[in-house]
Amino acid sequence: VSVTHHPDDTILSAYAAGSLRPGFDIVVAAHLEGCAHCRQAVRVFEQAAGGMLGLSDPAVMDPDALPHLMARIDREPEPAAFVAPVLDTRPLVQRLPVGRRRWLAPGVWVQNVQVPHAREDRVYFLRVGAGIKGINHGHSGPEFTAVVSGALRDGDTVLRAGDFCERGEEHEHQPVVEPDDGGCLCLAATQGSLQARDWMSRVIQMVAGV
Ligand SMILES: [Zn+2]
Repeated sequence: VSVTHHPDDTILSAYAAGSLRPGFDIVVAAHLEGCAHCRQAVRVFEQAAGGMLGLSDPAVMDPDALPHLMARIDREPEPAAFVAPVLDTRPLVQRLPVGRRRWLAPGVWVQNVQVPHAREDRVYFLRVGAGIKGINHGHSGPEFTAVVSGALRDGDTVLRAGDFCERGEEHEHQPVVEPDDGGCLCLAATQGSLQARDWMSRVIQMVAGV
């Protein structure tokens, strides 16, 4: 697998600092699992953040570094004593707690990923069969997508398994699953249930129109 589309440094440094929204964290983590390049970048950002705490000149310190670190420490669960960890070596995307698959059209289903600690985030798998066009949608917030398998075309960009894509809120786009790619499975995160409902209704509407 050759990964060609990566999260930018802003996203990776926010991930390293623990300041991404939890739902978006999951999508970045899914990309990192298959991308040594980005894992290395995250390590560098983590080391840089750690190094900053040792600086004596407060003017050099990123004013956000300490709040980020404290937030991360706050989020870290207490280690459970005397409980041997169960080693689960499956890929992250197979370990995520998911709800029921909901079929929207032949070849198209959505499966919610449960993110109980961040209910405003919407994380879901979207499976689209080969040759389906017109999954046109806009969003009122950012959208992160990690391609799990297959490929999809979004404008001039072809995203393949392992690739990552961020779309801003202004972006209206129409990804297309190529007829010869055997369908595409994506893991995506958006923020806010209201626009997600709107998004879903658009998907149903557009897919029904194919
Ligand atoms: Zn990467």
